[in-house]
Amino acid sequence: MSTLQIRDVRAILTSPGTGNIQKRLIVVKVETSEPGLFGLGCATFTQRHRAVRSVVDDYLKPLLIGRDPRNSEDLWQLCHVNAYWRSGPVMNNALSGVDMALWDIKGKLAGLPVYQLLGGKCREGAAVYRHADGRTPAEVEDNVRAFLAQGFRHVRCQMGGYGGAEVARPTGAPAGAYFDADGYARRVPVLFEHLRNTLGYDVELLHDMHERIAPITAVNLAKALEPYGLYFLEDALPPEQIAWFAMMRRQCTTPLAMGELFVNTNEWLPLIEGRLIDFIRCHVSAIGGLTPARKLAVLCEAFGIRTAWHGPGDVSPVGHAANVHLDVSSPNFGIQEWGGFSDLEQEIFPGCPEVRGGYVYPNDRPGLGIDINEALAAKYPCPDGVLEWTQTRLPDGTLVTP
Ligand code: MG
Repeated sequence: MSTLQIRDVRAILTSPGTGNIQKRLIVVKVETSEPGLFGLGCATFTQRHRAVRSVVDDYLKPLLIGRDPRNSEDLWQLCHVNAYWRSGPVMNNALSGVDMALWDIKGKLAGLPVYQLLGGKCREGAAVYRHADGRTPAEVEDNVRAFLAQGFRHVRCQMGGYGGAEVARPTGAPAGAYFDADGYARRVPVLFEHLRNTLGYDVELLHDMHERIAPITAVNLAKALEPYGLYFLEDALPPEQIAWFAMMRRQCTTPLAMGELFVNTNEWLPLIEGRLIDFIRCHVSAIGGLTPARKLAVLCEAFGIRTAWHGPGDVSPVGHAANVHLDVSSPNFGIQEWGGFSDLEQEIFPGCPEVRGGYVYPNDRPGLGIDINEALAAKYPCPDGVLEWTQTRLPDGTLVTP
């Protein structure tokens, strides 16, 4: 065992099925000198999947072969600084694929699920929230009721997607997702007034602003939503405008969640030390994996901030499993975003965490508890191309953050 070495590191790309965002999943497999001992990690950056694969296969593999996979902290630091220029979603996702795989290996060596290595269970299951949408307040209400009937108690509510209904495009307008920022800001309080009047206050409602509107409009909307007692308001501002959170905080007590686009310690540090947010919701693979996420959770605990790790469809089931291991072992866990897995995803990734009655449960197998059927994954290759929804435009055609 003292000679345990990393033998191979490689990125596996797969795109099981289609959706609004055609997900391109990237999983890293780290194989060791011990026969049958390997680990898996999520490195999914759907919009730049080939770039992540190159970092894994062309740079991290030669750096890691022959090293002891048990030294996950040192290897994280090594991969982080080895290119001299560090951080960013491509590098961090590649690093996350390796990092989660090393935790998976560590758990398999110990014969323990990863949550045990993180301190054991603080709770049996992690509460999840689902996404409800609709064209009208009544339609959103119906979709919330459908989730409540399935046992969920937390629902994120949008009306007409992130920016509300699309607007007419100007003549000759380029492709993109057009929306009316001010109209959206006027419609959202109307939606939540309807939901509270019809559903009452015994359901936790969330909303995602998706960083789309002007900062002062965002402050105004956060304040207008205060009477409706949201569980949290997500991404009220883009990462470039976090200085406005101080003003938002002075204006209202709407709980604020932020972080899915963060990739660097210096982005979350001011918000945490200033107690300017209530939930940290980084995308765990985009910040570099379990090693930094575990430290971030502990940091937030000291400041009374809860975790709500980003959990969209374009996180691989391996990444979702890692989220759940963090969720059940963090005392300051808040909520887990949950989209669910298709039958095909569950077939490609045996051991997916399971949701029952509004809670997600990790399985108790050693490591992350999840595997990959590589032969089946290979039948669903990743498509290329660029995404239209990230080309978000105001009614006059001005490009804004997605
Ligand atoms: Mg979001």
